[in-house]
Amino acid sequence: MFKALLINKSDDTGYTCTLTDVDEACLPAGDVTVRVDWSTINYKDGLAITGKSPVVRSFPMVPGIDFAGTVTESGHPRWKAGDRVILNGFGVGETHWGGLAQVARVKGDWLVPLPDGMSPREAMATGTAGYTAMLCVMALHKHWAEAGVAPGSGEVLVTGAGGGVGSVAIALLAAQGHTVVASTGRMAEADYLRGLGAADVIDRASLSAAGKPLQKERWIGVVDSVGSHTLANACASTRYGGAVAACGLAQGMDLPASVAPFILRGVTLYGIDSVMAPPARREAAWTQLAKDLDRQKLAALTTETDLAGALEAAPRILAGQVRGRLVVNVN
Ligand code: NDP
Repeated sequence: MFKALLINKSDDTGYTCTLTDVDEACLPAGDVTVRVDWSTINYKDGLAITGKSPVVRSFPMVPGIDFAGTVTESGHPRWKAGDRVILNGFGVGETHWGGLAQVARVKGDWLVPLPDGMSPREAMATGTAGYTAMLCVMALHKHWAEAGVAPGSGEVLVTGAGGGVGSVAIALLAAQGHTVVASTGRMAEADYLRGLGAADVIDRASLSAAGKPLQKERWIGVVDSVGSHTLANACASTRYGGAVAACGLAQGMDLPASVAPFILRGVTLYGIDSVMAPPARREAAWTQLAKDLDRQKLAALTTETDLAGALEAAPRILAGQVRGRLVVNVN
């Protein structure tokens, strides 16, 4: 038996998520079994645990789109017992039992090795949110390299700054010498955001309402985890030839924008998906995270909880009340 969060849905009891003991015989099919050391709560886990959005597609379901752990059994050629691995996405925690549990069984093709120099706890403090932040930063870097834009030559906007993606994006960009402007609804957290490396902190209200199709050129790049009007305004105020990496929808899934920034200023909008990203890009992102992410800043943006605490945190992350990243000790 092992401990896990378990989501059920029925006409009698409705949508429930409880901390429970599960028999290993109930684990889903997969060629690698992992003893989970650490997991985490992302925005999507909040949706799954509360049932606020239909991200869970089959029941019962163990939530948790991320885990870091140690292989205990493997029928996959790449992995053997004792290997330390990370899993992010691939529908785990949505269509296949996930990481908010002490044991997981998955396809070996979904795993990446824990990078040298990174502990399992640090990997989950980073989690899908941090790995997605790195995918955004990598897209911007590639763009800037081709466009000949040097770090420090202009401001980079990070929206949803107090959240997981935003906090890690600030730390990564600032460490690379960029001038980062953090947009937040929590101005009381300005010192925290400056501590991560933000040069300036702005109120997200300045970006969250409908704006003009073209605005004063300000950003050489943007990491946006918010969507909706915020993303539209970010595009409208990106400098000629700049780039926007869009990964989230915390404000909304809509994009009430015009084509003006794209056709008049040559702005590029990159779509960032972490869930089905190919293995080579995942491993490149994790290797880069192990090198670039300042461990003290990672510690400063991380709070720890346990499986019971993960249940309680789910509605709070949806309400934008979780600061930075929440790592879950499942043992
Ligand atoms: P968090 O909840 O940690 O962060 C989201 C932040 O967005 C909040 O902290 C808040 O920041 C801001 N926010 C919340 N509500 C609003 C609102 N109504 N208007 C404007 N800003 C708002 O979530 P994550 O960082 O884990 O994820 C962020 C987004 O990215 C989510 O939408 C998530 O689904 C998406 N995502 C996408 C991935 C992909 O593969 N494309 C992977 C990972 C995440 P503040 O208080 O500072 O304003």
